[in-house]
Amino acid sequence: MDAKQLLALDAKQPAAIDAKQRERYSRQILFPPIGERGQERLLGAHAAIVGCGALGSFHAGALARAGVGRLTIVDRDYVEPSNLHRQFLFEEADAEESLPKAVAACRRIARINSSVDVRAAVADLTPSNVDELLGDADLLLDGTDNFETRYLINDFAVSRGIPWIYGAAVASYGLTMPVIPGHTACLRCVYPEPPSGSQPTCETAGVLGAIVSAVASLQIADALRLLTTGEVRARITTIDAWEGTVRQVEGPDRDPECPCCARREFPHLEERARPPVSLCGRNAVQVHERERPLDLETLRTRLEPLGPVRSNEYVLRFAVEGYEMTVFSDGRAIIKGTSDTGIARSVYARYIG
Ligand SMILES: [Zn+2]
Repeated sequence: MDAKQLLALDAKQPAAIDAKQRERYSRQILFPPIGERGQERLLGAHAAIVGCGALGSFHAGALARAGVGRLTIVDRDYVEPSNLHRQFLFEEADAEESLPKAVAACRRIARINSSVDVRAAVADLTPSNVDELLGDADLLLDGTDNFETRYLINDFAVSRGIPWIYGAAVASYGLTMPVIPGHTACLRCVYPEPPSGSQPTCETAGVLGAIVSAVASLQIADALRLLTTGEVRARITTIDAWEGTVRQVEGPDRDPECPCCARREFPHLEERARPPVSLCGRNAVQVHERERPLDLETLRTRLEPLGPVRSNEYVLRFAVEGYEMTVFSDGRAIIKGTSDTGIARSVYARYIG
């Protein structure tokens, strides 16, 4: 693949490197595929990280250390004690202060590499803010925990020709796939629709720090390769850190009928027909982004170890973290205990997937 074709690297003015930077990044510059030219490209690059939890905080720290000049970090959540075993950038004090993750990450990065220009966006990525938050980036890293946001990233990235790197981890298992619009398969070539039903999440199935760092490391290696050479090997890598197994699927091929990268239909960029709605005067938010039939019995089994659950065939009630979720079999939920739609979507993503 032609590097210029992919990222138009030479259209960007690489940052000139000085003696101090040459010393700081010397071990990376010594790696021949990067070299001084690659380092200059990193210093002039802008990467956006969507979701600054376990994967995203690793991305942010690693890219800052590697000398990527500009970082945008988008996250809607705040740091909690239960994050600390795997979210490498955060400390006890961040959880005590309930700092927004994007802000905590920004503060930490300023201490890791003060020359990086970091922008923290405490926001829920939506069709209405995606262009403003990500439009200027050379590369997008997926640190999200839900498919809604990944399909939004995929539609946006393909529509704008920005590469992105898919990553996911839960329990001991994870996977990653780089997407170079127009050159490799996109998310919808491989998975045309978001999965239906509830998905295992870190809150229901647990997660090992080891799988997070394994997946995030592969994402970072691809990010550095893309930003310095403009190319990357297209493949899906799946890892089970507990079993010690790694599998790779080369390609996969682009789907010539892909609604996204072939037909250029971008439904996930349209404003949701049913955005989360704050229920006036009730300190509650209704989340109903799409029809997704849920098997409430399966969901009950998954949630039971985590908090009190009551259910019948139509509705399930679940109390956790000071919130009460009422979940309906069409995927709709009312989250009581907040009037903030971003927090409600986050609670939904954590427990329903
Ligand atoms: Zn596609």
